[in-house]
Amino acid sequence: MWPGEESGRDAHRGTDRKTGEPLLRSPILDYLDAIVESTGHVVSGAPADYIPELAAADPDRVAVALCTVNGTVYASGDADHEFSIQSMSKPFAYALAIEDHGLEYVLDRVGVEPSGEAFNELSLDPETGRPRNPMINAGAIATHTLVRDDQRPAVDRVLDLFSDLAQRPVRIDEGLAASELETGDRNLGLAYLLHASGRLGQDPAAAVAGYVRQCSANVTVRDLALMACTLANGGVQPNTGQRLFSRRTTRHLLSVMASCGMYDAAGDWLTSVGIPAKSGVAGGSSGCSPARWGWRCSPRAWTPTATARAAWS
Ligand code: GLU
Repeated sequence: MWPGEESGRDAHRGTDRKTGEPLLRSPILDYLDAIVESTGHVVSGAPADYIPELAAADPDRVAVALCTVNGTVYASGDADHEFSIQSMSKPFAYALAIEDHGLEYVLDRVGVEPSGEAFNELSLDPETGRPRNPMINAGAIATHTLVRDDQRPAVDRVLDLFSDLAQRPVRIDEGLAASELETGDRNLGLAYLLHASGRLGQDPAAAVAGYVRQCSANVTVRDLALMACTLANGGVQPNTGQRLFSRRTTRHLLSVMASCGMYDAAGDWLTSVGIPAKSGVAGGSSGCSPARWGWRCSPRAWTPTATARAAWS
């Protein structure tokens, strides 16, 4: 660590938390600032609008954060701005399902093969009848129903996990969830398909409602760096020391993120960037380098991977 730096959520505010003295600035911050600046010219694409509320997102917000495995967060840009986690929630729900039921049980219900198709493709593996992997919507809806909580809706347990990972209470954007449910016919179609193939032990509408609320949890770029860092750290939250996933679950999850996390661009991502990662339709991507750091960026909403690529080039 650099003089004056602290491990924990409030590191790198620019001044020492106790004395108010300016800190010696870490070169990592300059690097992150340069990444944010170097993607400022990117204006291609458009915010996703199949979820009406997402279309209203400010596409000029941009941030990047990196968390080292000692729990120090480095951030640049709008790193404390809240937005919905969307599909970056899928790896964590998948890990919970594995912790609850064991890997074999989950593998029996959701595969681990890259689909090469769009995230919301209306299809199951024709040979096995399973969703091809837990990162596409079919697999994520099935996975959500595997998260176990006898007392409360599964989504509450997922929220508790997000809060433990981010070290602060994570809440649902209910307006966004309602907006997605209003136009959620495709996810409903997927849930009915799963139900018809005997792969969904729950009412399809309830499964989609739970999954959509999971996707509507509000997080910041800083939160997501800590969350990804927990995976880089073998399943242990770096600041609290809490073991949230076993090593075995974490290793399996990172392999699935590497092969399937970027949907039909997974091969391109792995060969050009090369780390396990997951995208989210609210405009970001999150990844980690095992045993080193977790990283999260929210580039302009229309180019979910531009800032990530800049970080690596
Ligand atoms: N909630 C979104 C959906 O189901 C997530 C998609 C994504 O982030 O890729 O369509």
